[in-house]
Amino acid sequence: MSFTWGELENLAPKDKWRLPLPPTCAKCEYDLTGLPEERCPECGTPFHWEEVRKRTKRIWNLSLRLRHANQDARLGIIIGLIGWFAIGFVRLLGWDGLSPLVSIFAFGGGVISIILGSQVLNIRRMPKWARPYVGHPPPSMLLGAGSMLLGFSQMIGALIL
Ligand SMILES: [Zn+2]
Repeated sequence: MSFTWGELENLAPKDKWRLPLPPTCAKCEYDLTGLPEERCPECGTPFHWEEVRKRTKRIWNLSLRLRHANQDARLGIIIGLIGWFAIGFVRLLGWDGLSPLVSIFAFGGGVISIILGSQVLNIRRMPKWARPYVGHPPPSMLLGAGSMLLGFSQMIGALIL
């Protein structure tokens, strides 16, 4: 017999917390670990373990994605540089016949650079208490902005090529 992850989670005893992040109150972020009553002792807000579990899992998945954010942004910058290099190359050599093809690729590369660079912005969706779990170094706004700017300029470059 085999179980999906979701089924296994449901089989686990309700008082067992298996996520690497602590359960927290949705309102005041108080650590709810091991509480017998479904009410936050700090601010009095009632909660359900199932909801707390779902919310914490969402935050955890986001933190896993954010670990790749700097890598993604660097890849976006490389794609952006290659795109600009290709545009410049065609321009310099005057290979006008190749222009439409390079334009299409550079434009697509620009879109990809923007998407890759924008990953660092997801840090804003992480609650402050959970940000240390994203790891080191933290997502770099500079890298992300660089990738997005390169991507954007490349799209414009592709259009006027
Ligand atoms: Zn609370």
